[in-house]
Amino acid sequence: MGKIVAKRGSELRCKSWRQEALLRLLENVLENGENQDELIVYASLGKAARNWPSYHAIVDTLQNLEEDETLVIQSGKPIGVFKTHPYAPIVVMANCNIVGKWATSENFYDLQDKGLICWGGLTAGAWQYIGSQGVIQGTYEIFQTIARKHFDGSLKGRFILTAGLGGMGGAQPLAGVMADAAILVVEVDEERINKRIEHGYLQKKTDNLDQALQWIDEAKSSGESISVGLLGNAADIYPEILSRGIVPDIVSDQTAAHDLVYGYIPQGYTVEEVKQLRKTNPEQLAEDSLASIATEVRAMLEFKNRGSIVFDNGNNIRSQAFKAGVEDAFEIDIFTEAFLRPLFAKAIGPFRWIALSGNPEDIRTIDQYILENFADNQIASNWIKLANQYVPFEGLPARIGWFGHGERTELALAVNKMVREGKLSGPIAFSRDHLDAGAMAHPNIMTERMKDGSDAISDWPLINAMLNCSSMADLVVIHSGGGGYAGYMTSAGVTLVADGTEAADMRLKYTLDNDTGLGVLRYADAGYEEALEEVEKKNIRRINLEHYKK
Ligand code: NAD
Repeated sequence: MGKIVAKRGSELRCKSWRQEALLRLLENVLENGENQDELIVYASLGKAARNWPSYHAIVDTLQNLEEDETLVIQSGKPIGVFKTHPYAPIVVMANCNIVGKWATSENFYDLQDKGLICWGGLTAGAWQYIGSQGVIQGTYEIFQTIARKHFDGSLKGRFILTAGLGGMGGAQPLAGVMADAAILVVEVDEERINKRIEHGYLQKKTDNLDQALQWIDEAKSSGESISVGLLGNAADIYPEILSRGIVPDIVSDQTAAHDLVYGYIPQGYTVEEVKQLRKTNPEQLAEDSLASIATEVRAMLEFKNRGSIVFDNGNNIRSQAFKAGVEDAFEIDIFTEAFLRPLFAKAIGPFRWIALSGNPEDIRTIDQYILENFADNQIASNWIKLANQYVPFEGLPARIGWFGHGERTELALAVNKMVREGKLSGPIAFSRDHLDAGAMAHPNIMTERMKDGSDAISDWPLINAMLNCSSMADLVVIHSGGGGYAGYMTSAGVTLVADGTEAADMRLKYTLDNDTGLGVLRYADAGYEEALEEVEKKNIRRINLEHYKK
């Protein structure tokens, strides 16, 4: 079988566009993924399907599925087809959910080895990943927030040190350049560096730290932006930069530190050696990874002491370091609390749309519509202009934009109308990150230090998924963490297909209003002012128990 790529054009292999859309999205995550032979999309183990028979069975079933049927998928394996009705989801999934006490990395690996489970990342198993672009705006907005808070609004002449150029981390160098900074990304696998250069996400590469620092210095002095990929191990390079007395302005890390066996590469090993050790002695590998992470995080903490702005970018590196005895690991801030929370309280978060025909012009037409009709939304319009200039398409052309309650519906309905009127060359799929207002409980990323202490309550994403099914979404998924994230999180995902029909108008309106509406209520419930104001402003029907207290 040749390499899988998403089908383009207007010819359908399925009985309607809804099924065809989901099939193309499945193919698209593999087209954009890191290791197609093993169905791995990103984050070391984030898979699109359990195994190859599962993949082929999903493709076959989607091709034969009627509009009034629902395909059920359990951790990447298709289980059966049920008669439902034309307004029910086409696909429902539960990925990698293990009962609380048993949700450990060890049990996850064991169940995975037995072929009983697989992890879907946040968007891989839900067929929503659109390439590195999916996280690039998030990373860019974090840099911009830091610029506003600490550097008079600009990162010109500022040095960002980070690591990891994988499926998600690969967005960092481009986000750094878009924010006008000089960014150095340490990566241990040369193939990953080459891939980011090929895709236009990274400008320069070297295996020599002196050379890398010289480029960074030159860019800082001239105020030019630059991105440099340095071949090396972050646990070696961070302490080395410290020992030279250099203090970057911003420090982070986006290696796959969440997974000690399949993700992080410890000091002293090549990528090939690690691949072997995974089979022969995973316990040793986990131990060595933990020790290297501790070294790296100690260096990050020392950078913080010396004045760098240091943050965890959602890879569980602090929890791993804490396990390894770095007691002050949580002195490092999590990016969500610092930047995302005020936006999430209003249900503003990463929303995305994908041109199922494969025609990039469709995305440009929608860009233009946003610039003309959402000019008041500074975050979105600034981003669309930048994305147009800098962000290359990967796989099916797609765009990400941060929109909130009401705005998502307005945009999606306008797009559905454009499809209906033939102004776009095919239907558009909408989805959003699982890291979204009502959709995730993750006490070390999304919901760390919630105002009311509700960090670990996973009722919210479960309600979110049920509500999205009731609202007639096309695909709904509930999932939890695998590998190093086992036991750390639960989230819900949703996909919608704007195929130009009136039924799609209904699906889009109810699902998007209710998805974000629940997000606002989740934050209002936790006592966030921004959410309480949004409830009033947007007329969201919140039941306020204060009125019932005699
Ligand atoms: P990936 O597995 O595709 O890539 C990880 C990269 O890190 C690989 O290229 C690997 O070679 C490199 N690496 C590993 N150990 C290293 C070391 N010691 N020094 C230098 N490089 C090293 O993973 P990904 O998809 O890029 O995700 C990275 C992390 O970010 C994951 O933990 C993921 O869960 C997390 N993540 C966070 C967000 C967010 O919202 N902020 C979003 C997605 C993913």
